[in-house]
Amino acid sequence: MKNIVIIATGGTIAGSGEAGRTTEYRAGTVAVADILKSVPQLGKLANIEMISLMSVDSNEMDEQKWLQLREVINQQAARDDVDGIVVTHGTDTIEETAYFLNLTVNTAKPVVLTGAMRPATATSADGPFNIYQAVALAADDQTYDCGVVCLFSSTIYSARDIAKINNYKIDAFSSLNDHAALGYMRDAEVFITSRPVSKHTIHSKFSQLEYSALPKVGVAVYYAGAPAEVLERLGQDCDGLVVIGTGSGNYSQAWRQKLDALAERGVVVVRSSRVSNSIVFDEPIFDPHDHFIGVNTLTSYKARILLMLCLTQTNDIAAIRQTFFKY
Ligand code: ASP
Repeated sequence: MKNIVIIATGGTIAGSGEAGRTTEYRAGTVAVADILKSVPQLGKLANIEMISLMSVDSNEMDEQKWLQLREVINQQAARDDVDGIVVTHGTDTIEETAYFLNLTVNTAKPVVLTGAMRPATATSADGPFNIYQAVALAADDQTYDCGVVCLFSSTIYSARDIAKINNYKIDAFSSLNDHAALGYMRDAEVFITSRPVSKHTIHSKFSQLEYSALPKVGVAVYYAGAPAEVLERLGQDCDGLVVIGTGSGNYSQAWRQKLDALAERGVVVVRSSRVSNSIVFDEPIFDPHDHFIGVNTLTSYKARILLMLCLTQTNDIAAIRQTFFKY
């Protein structure tokens, strides 16, 4: 049997509240070891080791916690007697953590993130089955060198493309921009149907580096009539800025002028869109100029992570564009 390490970080999967209810509960209050007791079949899938790393609502995740998690995953993955890793995590920011790990962990062994939409004390809690499938996925040879993946409701998603698209159903995740999921599961059986082409894990230049902290990158949301002054404050605090624009990554002329001024001061500006299925090219469609970067098919929040990592190496626009294209 394969050896799988489960690293617990908190979230609704470890949440508890009034028996049977799906609301008014507290995330990260139940030990994952206790949830595992409700999945006795796990013992038939793999030998399990548990690490309780932290117990937080995933809205408490930050760059330092990502770095801590990355280090623990790298340590565990380097062990000859470990075949795969499962991370339990809150669903609110799981897509950010997953993408950060996808870019920075230095292993081709399976790393599977999962969580739950219902607390452990709810009727038909989804956590136990997700953990069961996540362990089966981490123990399967097909998951080797797939990058970091997420498992929810029998569907296997790449960390790059997964997004939470629903906040009241168990089936809460999807792959945006018509990107396919990587596959699906039938109980413990794994069916990988496509593999990621974007760079990840051992193929990512960011997995070879050490970080004690990350550069500051802010996110600015444009809306009709949004005052450009908010950019000034962000520009003072940040080395980079991701703008969530409209349509194909658009904003007003007042924003354009303020962003130009920030770019001249050395702030790297990345354009993205509030449209959930969108491609934002380097050159704006309506106002062609070439000193900002387009996210392509990344979401704004993932673009922020990639930009932070890029800025540890360079602030050259052409070089960062190349990276955005490949990652
Ligand atoms: N607020 C919770 C969290 O992200 C939600 C969840 O896990 O579903 O930790």
